[in-house]
Amino acid sequence: MAGIYIHIPFCRQPCHYCNFHFMASTRDKDAYLQALLREIDLQRMFFDRQGHGSTFGRIKTVYVGGGTPSMLSARELSRLFEGLSQHFSLEGATEVTLEANPDDLNPGKLKELRQLPVNRLSIGVQSFFPEDLYYMNRIHSPSQAWNSIQDAREAGFENISVDLIYGTPTLTDANWEDNLHRLAMTGIPHISAYALTVEPRTPLAYLIRKGKAKPVSEEQSARQFSMMKDVLESYGYRHYEISNFSFPGKESLHNMGYWTGQPYLGLGSSAHSFIPGKRSWNISNISQYKAAIYEDAVPAEEEVLSLSQAVNEYIMTSLRTVWGCDLGYIARLWGPQHIPALKKRAEGHLRRGALIWKNDHTLVLGRKGLFFADGIAADLFID
Ligand code: SF4
Repeated sequence: MAGIYIHIPFCRQPCHYCNFHFMASTRDKDAYLQALLREIDLQRMFFDRQGHGSTFGRIKTVYVGGGTPSMLSARELSRLFEGLSQHFSLEGATEVTLEANPDDLNPGKLKELRQLPVNRLSIGVQSFFPEDLYYMNRIHSPSQAWNSIQDAREAGFENISVDLIYGTPTLTDANWEDNLHRLAMTGIPHISAYALTVEPRTPLAYLIRKGKAKPVSEEQSARQFSMMKDVLESYGYRHYEISNFSFPGKESLHNMGYWTGQPYLGLGSSAHSFIPGKRSWNISNISQYKAAIYEDAVPAEEEVLSLSQAVNEYIMTSLRTVWGCDLGYIARLWGPQHIPALKKRAEGHLRRGALIWKNDHTLVLGRKGLFFADGIAADLFID
């Protein structure tokens, strides 16, 4: 199984918390799409070159993310998929996701999107309350958010995911519960929810430093994380990854590929690729990306993972999921010598219920550990 990620680095306006690679202008859009098509051509042998066999029939998931891919017209997206299908067989692709913002989705556009290979929408709602959207500098309104979900379903999209953000200083606990209940009541099959984090060099970090925006409280985030788990599980959603809930069988297959070490090819500026043992990433600069691609060179850096990096990456990603960190798998793949030290490091977390044994060889996060997954994983890392 392999995946393809395509990065569309354009947005209408910068959300204050965002540290993704994007530009708030579309002046380079046409040239960028040309470059992207050229990169698809240049990378057509990516999986074969890496010794992972022909890609024919092996692409299981495609994810068009950003940025804001829904800013592209259906015609532009269609060109992209045509370019992709000239070199990669998408016939076996079971999940083709398009990230979309509510302000781009209307019945007409959705009808056009239905004609494309896209069969899953990931809609960036973040909140249904105007004060939160304002705090985050999101461009859409609450009514656009609701309409986008309804219109998507009416257009025939069944596989829909909605992104939410909690821990926003303007988000009261009551409003957070309201967001969750009302969204769950729509019955959409997948919800991703992230704690608002203040990344350095973002407008939010600047505004908080200058006292122009309220600071973010970890205590509020932890509390709202716990509320979210209770509310969504009461509607039958499974908390299958720290930030992801779904109805059974509606997990994000593309992200599952990331978490289970499947190979993937990233196309576009800043896109990451992975083949077991090696990862690479394209330059995060649209002009330099285009210039290199026009010279028929993919501007990527690569890193061969050391044994400890590979093991630690597995610990980090697996522990975030309900399937947990399988020490038997680590022993089989990287050697049994790592297990005693790993078990020793887990002891403290096991004692206080942050980690629990799922069976005699698999560690999973306990309720007390869920909000601190990354820190706990780091404590288990091998040297
Ligand atoms: S729409 Fe997404 S990528 Fe664009 S600025 Fe907002 S959070 Fe960042």
